Amino acid sequence: MNHDCIFCKIISGELPSAIIFQDERVTAFRDINPAAPTHILIVPNKHIASVEAVEEADESLIGYLYRAASRIAREEGISEAGYRLITNTGANAGQTVFHLHVHLLGGKMLKLALD
Ligand code: AMP
Repeated sequence: MNHDCIFCKIISGELPSAIIFQDERVTAFRDINPAAPTHILIVPNKHIASVEAVEEADESLIGYLYRAASRIAREEGISEAGYRLITNTGANAGQTVFHLHVHLLGGKMLKLALD
């Protein structure tokens, strides 16, 4: 737990949010500023600042996080139509919260915007 991190505060329950799934390894909650009808953030409960900070010991956790994303997409009813998973990394990508997260976006036809 990093006490300066808003996602750590969401994970611990200190900061209220719309949590839709939580277990001992990951937490998923709705993005406060949704960019699509479904916009969920899936995060490891462990504080990892970004993809750049992922260590060898985290490899199974990252796989687990993607499996959780897929399950949540199915539960949200967007699996068949398709969805996008995005992880911004660093300043040029516009990362604003330095706790690793995967954006799950769907529920509409998404534009292919690579920048
Ligand atoms: P990124 O720009 O990839 O770091 O994404 C950070 C995301 O976190 C943005 O889409 C924000 O809207 C979202 N966000 C920031 N604060 C909160 C919060 N308290 N609850 C839910 N989502 C948040």
